[in-house]
Amino acid sequence: MEIAKLSPLTASYLELEEKFGAHNYHPLPVVLEKGEGIYLWDVEGKKYIDFLSGYSAVNQGHCHPKIVQALTNQAQKLTLTSRAFHNNLLGQYEQYITRYFQYDKVLPMNTGVEGGETAIKLARRWAYVKKGVPENKAKIIFAEGNFWGRTLAAISSSTDPSSYHQFGPFMPGFELVPYNDINALEKALQDANVAAFMVEPIQGEAGVVIPDEGYLTKVRALCTQYNVLFIADEIQTGLARTGKMLACDHENVRPDILILGKALSGGALPVSAVLADDFIMMNIKPGEHGSTYGGNPLACAVAMAALDVLKEENLADNAERMGILLRSKIAELNSPFIKTIRGKGLLNAIVINHPNKDAAWELCLLLKDRGLLAKPTHGDKIRFAPPLIINEEEINESVSIIASALAALS
Ligand code: PLP
Repeated sequence: MEIAKLSPLTASYLELEEKFGAHNYHPLPVVLEKGEGIYLWDVEGKKYIDFLSGYSAVNQGHCHPKIVQALTNQAQKLTLTSRAFHNNLLGQYEQYITRYFQYDKVLPMNTGVEGGETAIKLARRWAYVKKGVPENKAKIIFAEGNFWGRTLAAISSSTDPSSYHQFGPFMPGFELVPYNDINALEKALQDANVAAFMVEPIQGEAGVVIPDEGYLTKVRALCTQYNVLFIADEIQTGLARTGKMLACDHENVRPDILILGKALSGGALPVSAVLADDFIMMNIKPGEHGSTYGGNPLACAVAMAALDVLKEENLADNAERMGILLRSKIAELNSPFIKTIRGKGLLNAIVINHPNKDAAWELCLLLKDRGLLAKPTHGDKIRFAPPLIINEEEINESVSIIASALAALS
């Protein structure tokens, strides 16, 4: 969209970003200034239902009062000590989160991609120390279509050219197998130098790709059989998003390494965590890994509040029920422009059926005009992932907006 077609106020914000910011994103032309619950407001005062939730970071809803309270209370007391010293909240948080997810230990980081990097370092170290893999030979297996961030390691495992093209050379020791292909995985795991298989239980960025039922169970069994660590990247799927606390809970499987991020702070600040048992975690010694902000007291206070909210408000159950409602209501629309609606809980996507390759983008603009914000991924898919606090009435309202936008799509 050309900036000239927008209101002068909105255009003035876009012009600033265009002129002074790197052009590494292509946002919808809306400038937001306020959020509360499932709603967002732009600088013109227009209200929207948020159907992206900050890529699943805002599961608890925007500016959740309990999370904001924890943030502001702690911000007035102590925000950062670094790990050069102890702080009075880190141990409490570590106890809280390890009991919450039933692991021996946690390693706190900030962004999701750092969580992924940390998990891979832990797996490589475990492979050398415990599995007996020769130095520098450890391999990590990933699934095609994975997304775990933008660092050089993360793009080294990517199959999306827009992630990796002209950013090489890449990280060695990474291999790919097709997602949801258990035979290909078994073949890859037979190599004695494999340390870990790192996988999303549902591929989020790839367009909410759900593996066959039983896939995670088989992954778990194969990893155990071949003495390979199962790393679950639950940064997008975890924390009640798919209708269970973790997407792995749908098959009752326990990964060896669990990576969390995004909604661990409810959108308040970057907080990620890597959870594992002692036989993995205790191979890392002081000075071998860390981050200035990892485990800071502000993050600890916010993460405990964010995790509290998930349980106190039964957000996994609500996500499950509202997800079923959303998918059935959208299916009932019988729109010729929707090829598929798929998802689990409130992690959903529609695949657009339209000769115009920009139709998904156009539909998002029509949704925006009608008061609902969503963003296309990979051209023809649109994720529908509202905050997990959404209720039935709000789902119905959202579906009417979607119906009206589809009717306006030419
Ligand atoms: N892993 C998954 C599954 C993700 O969806 C993302 C981000 O979308 C990441 C990792 C990276 O998280 P971050 O952007 O916080 O680094």
